[in-house]
Amino acid sequence: MNANPTPTPLVFFGHGSPMAALIPNAISEGWRTAVAGLPKPKAILCVSAHWETRVTAVTAMTRPRTIHDFGASFPKALFDMQYPAPGDPALAHRVAELLAPTPVMMDEGEWGLDHGTWSVLVHAFPGADVPVVQLSLDVSLTPQQRFDIGRRLSPLRDEGVLIIASGNIVHNLRTMDWNNVACDPFDWAARFNNEMRDAILKDEPDRVMAFEAMGEAARLAAPTPEHFWPLLYILGARRPGDAVRFFNDRVEHGSLGMTSVVLDQAQAA
Ligand code: ZN
Repeated sequence: MNANPTPTPLVFFGHGSPMAALIPNAISEGWRTAVAGLPKPKAILCVSAHWETRVTAVTAMTRPRTIHDFGASFPKALFDMQYPAPGDPALAHRVAELLAPTPVMMDEGEWGLDHGTWSVLVHAFPGADVPVVQLSLDVSLTPQQRFDIGRRLSPLRDEGVLIIASGNIVHNLRTMDWNNVACDPFDWAARFNNEMRDAILKDEPDRVMAFEAMGEAARLAAPTPEHFWPLLYILGARRPGDAVRFFNDRVEHGSLGMTSVVLDQAQAA
């Protein structure tokens, strides 16, 4: 199985509005360039903030549909977009094998690729020729359990599988200044983002798992935690010697954190 000379990297993408899929911007350019120099993976396993379940599930179909999971106010052109990457049932079963005895539900048609995945991948892997499997967020898990799932999935890095996660470290849509992308972040947003950024840089995942200990800043930055959770899976799959490379490293609209990170063994000094 181990055909790759170095483990595949890990990438956490801050994703923001699905409109970035349709209209390229500085953020989507960051997604593209972050993976542009990496070897082409055999398959992608993506943890998306937009698939919440009561058990850990994986997409196991050969042709996952493109899910347009956003409000009707978005333009028709966005609903018309397709990301026709194939699935990879063998990878779905490999995930279940690695996570055993934790039960993993094989999703044969309920889900597919939601916008957390495809709005990023249309830029990062525009050819849609790399098979994609999505991993869901079991809403009942603790941060430690999410981290542990990432750790148990880490062998995929030796099998040519690129593990990615798509969410936002800071994600408060209620407080966002929708008309001002470049306004100063709220104090709590900057504080929370900086704390997580520093913990990632110093490889101190306990500080990330304990994000709720930041009190009010955490309650405001992650008022619902589903956009924060995907980061924990990536950190779990981290290995000693992985170099940290942040990109799109800013908070937009006051409270939408775009900070993204590549953890890459190959780039370590
Ligand atoms: Zn989202």
